[in-house]
Amino acid sequence: MSGRYHDPLDEAFGNEPNPPAPAREPAYLSALNKEQREAVEATEGAVLVLAGAGTGKTRVLTTRLAHILATRRAWPGHILAVTFTNKAAREMKERIGALIGGVVEGMQWLGTFHSIGARMLRRHAELAGLKSNFTILDADDQLRLMKQLVEAENIDEKRWPARTLAAMIDGWKNRGQRPEDVPEGDAHGYAFGKGRKLYADYQGRLKALNAADFGDLLLDTLSILRGHPDILADYRDRFRYILVDEYQDTNVVQYLWLKLLAGSGGNVCVVGDDDQSIYGWRGAEIENILRFERDFPGAKVIRLERNYRSTPAILGAASGLIAANKGRLGKTLWTEGEHGEKIKVQGVWDAEEEARHVAGDAEALHREGHLFAQMAILVRASFQMREFEDRFIALGLPYRVIGGPRFYERAEIRDAMAYLRLVAQGDDDLAFERIVNKPKRGIGDASVQSLHRFARARQVPLLAAAREIVETDELPPKAKKALSELAMNFARWSGTAQHLPHTELAEMILDESGYTDMLKADKSADAPGRLDNLKELVRSMEQFESLAAFLEHVSLVMEIEQNETGDRLNLMTLHAAKGLEFDTVFLPGWEEGLFPSQRTMDENGLAGLEEERRLAYVGLTRAKQRIFVSFAANRRVHGSWQSALPSRFVSELPEAHVETTVDEGFYGGNAGFRDNMSGFASTYESPGWKRAQANKERGRARPPLIEAQAFTVQTSDPQATHYAKGERVFHQKFGYGRIKAVEGNKLTVDFDKAGEKKVIDQFVARA
Ligand code: ATP
Ligand code: MG
Repeated sequence: MSGRYHDPLDEAFGNEPNPPAPAREPAYLSALNKEQREAVEATEGAVLVLAGAGTGKTRVLTTRLAHILATRRAWPGHILAVTFTNKAAREMKERIGALIGGVVEGMQWLGTFHSIGARMLRRHAELAGLKSNFTILDADDQLRLMKQLVEAENIDEKRWPARTLAAMIDGWKNRGQRPEDVPEGDAHGYAFGKGRKLYADYQGRLKALNAADFGDLLLDTLSILRGHPDILADYRDRFRYILVDEYQDTNVVQYLWLKLLAGSGGNVCVVGDDDQSIYGWRGAEIENILRFERDFPGAKVIRLERNYRSTPAILGAASGLIAANKGRLGKTLWTEGEHGEKIKVQGVWDAEEEARHVAGDAEALHREGHLFAQMAILVRASFQMREFEDRFIALGLPYRVIGGPRFYERAEIRDAMAYLRLVAQGDDDLAFERIVNKPKRGIGDASVQSLHRFARARQVPLLAAAREIVETDELPPKAKKALSELAMNFARWSGTAQHLPHTELAEMILDESGYTDMLKADKSADAPGRLDNLKELVRSMEQFESLAAFLEHVSLVMEIEQNETGDRLNLMTLHAAKGLEFDTVFLPGWEEGLFPSQRTMDENGLAGLEEERRLAYVGLTRAKQRIFVSFAANRRVHGSWQSALPSRFVSELPEAHVETTVDEGFYGGNAGFRDNMSGFASTYESPGWKRAQANKERGRARPPLIEAQAFTVQTSDPQATHYAKGERVFHQKFGYGRIKAVEGNKLTVDFDKAGEKKVIDQFVARA
């Protein structure tokens, strides 16, 4: 080992060139079990640690790194260590410091694939036609660039959305394919074979702009390593040790890149769990972990079987569930200690009640002394977060969203809000700018600039200026026509807003503006999720009396700052929860169609279902002490209630580890629904369902809460109502109350608990 590099460990170890070997074995080694220790001490050659959740794979990796440093096998700069998130990289660095004492500096090659790729690419940027200060484009910039290229090719973007192209290029990059490698057939997937040319054009534009996208960070470095044996040799020499966490989720380009760097005789240690492979939809190849032994002949394979994270109840439930998957290697897992709390499975009426339950349970635990930060809500789809966020805000319960924006900060929600704001307030120029060409309607930057000048000269808001400018010849014909249509639409929507319920108005705007169609035409992986978010937005508006009240609510919500620190309840998707652990885990929305996701099953059949099940396994195995699973009897889907069936995953949890409660409101006093459910019960004899039935039969008192008709949206004459002054009614949000006044379809109700409120008749039922 040469001393070319400054090594801060020298300081940590008293700066002696060859410190005497420690007399006693270091504490970090004695903190491991036999197999873990073997994996840590087998520093030379290839090692695969293939083991279930919570068995200490990440701990092994961290300790191995510390061990390599402490035994002076390599300098910090000689180790390549890959984690799945930047946060995990930071934590690993801290842990290593704690294990061997002192701060570890100089671990330049510890990070995610992307961050390491970026560092490498900057060092050799000129070989990829870039300068070392190149910009890394985010998804938005990337899309904007592609749109320009699509336009330049005269391709109809309505038919061939740029997003589709972006998704395809991303896929090619994940598979390690440059434009010249894209197979003919694949290239035909976009605009009659223009895919490959556009991919090449796009790469050309990126270089011209001195920019790289995320895919390039690895693909470009891979090409450099392949094309320059001297550089490759240099890196192989540098990286004496390579370590990779979450190996089951690497994609092809990451795999090729690693294999090249490791060479055949490299000291590579990868850890992973085939049961936790959940990124197939983003190009991850579970095969990578399965063929490790072939790629590195003589590799040592170590299996860890003791789980240190979870109680036997949790482990039993998770193992029982994942056993239903066919394509798996299979492994033994055990844990010590008391059986622990059973998984609490709860049936609730709807998502709002689900959020009330979760918040209630979280607060109860908090009162008993549990930290919010040790609790997490893991959702399958991001739209599910809205209901929880609104509830937490109402209660003042501190929370944070991990790995993504909060609901109202999402791009599609902001777009929709911009339309609504502009209808309510015609002089909202920021809103206007946001949506003037979204969806694309041929109003380019130059036209927008002309409009700005025009508005400034007349001192009027942009929307008003739009109405005037279309009477002049200041704009090219296409932009003029589009702007004129947009202005007319807004005039019409504002008029309609006076008498149409605001939820219907929102749907109308989203449809008529072309926004919904834009997302429907979009073939990228996240487009369906965006559509769901919009539906959820419309649904969230129902609780408000008017558009103005809703807009007010959102602006208040947005004002509450996203604070990352402190004792906060964690809210995230299941995908973002990989590798993490919490005392308490809430798993809401376990309903067929939502989880497992119907879309995934439709697109990928059995393989899709198995990936969903692995996701459920990941969710369950995040918990150390307790799990709350819930399913709602009703989900609101696009303005109408749909009865939902409990997820098959509920019934796959072994009975011995589960305790099922069906909430009083589960049937909502809806006789029709109860009949539906009993009809369904005869065809759906799952243990989970039977447990629910048994509880029901045990005679739990269920006062009828809500009449059935409260849940059918009435489309009758909005002005007429069949309610009269003095009647007792029930409202989903405000509870029971008596009608004080009736005006059209608006009722003034004196609610027993919530006080006097104006509500629309379709949201109440006779009590
Ligand atoms: P996942 O598959 O979820 O990524 P993992 O296999 O990486 O899990 P770790 O996160 O490394 O597991 O470990 C799970 C928990 O068990 C951690 O809290 C860790 O500190 C603890 N743990 C691991 N090994 C031991 C051990 N030998 N003694 C005590 N605790 C341990
Ligand atoms: Mg881990």
